[in-house]
Amino acid sequence: MRVFDRLSEGLKLPEDERMLLESVRTVARDRIAPRAAHYDATAEFPWDSLKAVNELGLNAVYIPADYGGAGMSYVAYLECVRELSKACSSTGIIWATNFHAMKPVIDFGSAEQNRRFMATMLKGGIASIAITEPTAGSDATGMKTRFTPDGDWVVVDGGKTFISSGDVADLILLFGKWSEIENPKAAITALVLEKGTPGFSVLRKEDKMGNRATSTVALAFDGCRVPRTNLIQGPGGGLKVLLGSLNKSRPSVAAHALGIARAAFEDAVAYINDRRQWGKRIVEFQGIQFMLADMATDLALCEAWLYHVARLVDDGAEGFEVEASMLKMRASDLAMRIATDAVQLHGGYGYCKDFRVERLMRDAKVTQIWEGTNQIHRQLIGRSFMKK
Ligand SMILES: Cc1cc2nc3c(=O)[nH]c(=O)nc-3n(C[C@H](O)[C@H](O)[C@H](O)COP(=O)(O)OP(=O)(O)OC[C@H]3O[C@@H](n4cnc5c(N)ncnc54)[C@H](O)[C@@H]3O)c2cc1C
Repeated sequence: MRVFDRLSEGLKLPEDERMLLESVRTVARDRIAPRAAHYDATAEFPWDSLKAVNELGLNAVYIPADYGGAGMSYVAYLECVRELSKACSSTGIIWATNFHAMKPVIDFGSAEQNRRFMATMLKGGIASIAITEPTAGSDATGMKTRFTPDGDWVVVDGGKTFISSGDVADLILLFGKWSEIENPKAAITALVLEKGTPGFSVLRKEDKMGNRATSTVALAFDGCRVPRTNLIQGPGGGLKVLLGSLNKSRPSVAAHALGIARAAFEDAVAYINDRRQWGKRIVEFQGIQFMLADMATDLALCEAWLYHVARLVDDGAEGFEVEASMLKMRASDLAMRIATDAVQLHGGYGYCKDFRVERLMRDAKVTQIWEGTNQIHRQLIGRSFMKK
């Protein structure tokens, strides 16, 4: 595993980030990983694991110092996602969703909005981002949720589907269309809906294949009145917020996928070094070594690309959509492949719930679907090479 240790060492994180990561690894190993199977089996929301995350004050990692956070690097944030997801995929993505919902507010909201909303997050708040609708999935611009101005208020009507943490969130970054703007793309608007807003309801909770401890819900908005001061970038500013935020959330879902991949890889290596057939350890067969070589090499290269994209963000680069799409696509395909191979390397035992790889394979699948399906990412990457 020297290859992977050297990759992490190569990050050369400052002392405070390095120490934080050590604490995250310890908590993930001792408090979060041991409960992951229970939460998967029961599909209960992992409140105990979230408590452990909040005792570390992890929401502060991505909140700028101006709003009371620690303002750490994006590399450090991604490493936290990867470590948490390696221990429990559900816990990792619940915490990452806080970032996906709040980073657009940090980047595009006013100082007053940030002071209000980040105070909630620093207390261990949960956030959710609501884009998808029953008839607007890959083409999010087809959304129909309506925002109608009424004096100092915005009235919200419509519905969202597949919203992670939508039922438990303190804050929901909600996208809809401004009723007074006709152009469907120009009408897209973002606002923050706070917990307890009258007219907001949860219609159903999905019973999922994997990431079962996350809460994925359909939401309805029936005349919800949201203060106009909660609009992010004002009427019609939503598309900019949406596109700007995806570049930061896609590497984050890649880090989640790579956490799952690393867990599956480590479990497979441990198992085939122990299990014997034909009088030899499974790892001694050349056919198995070839499999392992592909898994390890692709994982190392993908982790290196994660750090490359992370550095682009930390250095303030613009226009890195293609790099972010490449990362999301490859990391999620790899997580699915490594988790599937890890099941294969466990033989019949891998198909049974006594071994973690069974869960990892189910958890990995959605990484190819959310945050833009991998078909959409292939299209975005391929299209970028078309000559004008
Ligand atoms: C567990 C889970 C959690 C989620 N969490 C959230 C959340 O928190 N917030 C949120 O807003 N959304 C969330 N989503 C929604 C997710 O982002 C969408 O499911 C995803 O964008 C795909 O949309 P869709 O399911 O409507 O599929 P569709 O868009 O209907 O696609 C169906 C199939 O057609 C393919 N396809 C579509 N268009 C094209 C094209 N142009 N070219 C080639 N192939 C195409 C797709 O790749 C896919 O294979 C979540 C989904 C899941 C399953």
